[in-house]
Amino acid sequence: MTYFITRYKEATNRIIMPLKRASRGRQKGGKGSSGRIQCTNCGATVPRDKAKKVTSRLNLVEHTLAKELRAQGAYIASPTVLKWYCISCAIHFGILKIRSADSRRNTGRLR
Ligand SMILES: [Zn+2]
Repeated sequence: MTYFITRYKEATNRIIMPLKRASRGRQKGGKGSSGRIQCTNCGATVPRDKAKKVTSRLNLVEHTLAKELRAQGAYIASPTVLKWYCISCAIHFGILKIRSADSRRNTGRLR
């Protein structure tokens, strides 16, 4: 409780609550609503600016085989896969990390 009282005096008029993520976890800034998107993993509907976008290359041929084929002059296509993750799935897969309890107390600019 003493912690909050001291913080209240520092802030003069309002209590600054700890932030979990920069920009409240969104990229929209001052713009209004954005489109909605479905999470690739769980299917949850999340705002487009809040969801995490992950692009990756899909290897259709095994690495050693691809090396041999490439030596013979073959072109091996590797299509790009686009995935959208909701916040909880992004944390589960290690794309995002949770801030530690101490760093959550830093209320300055997070970036
Ligand atoms: Zn999800």
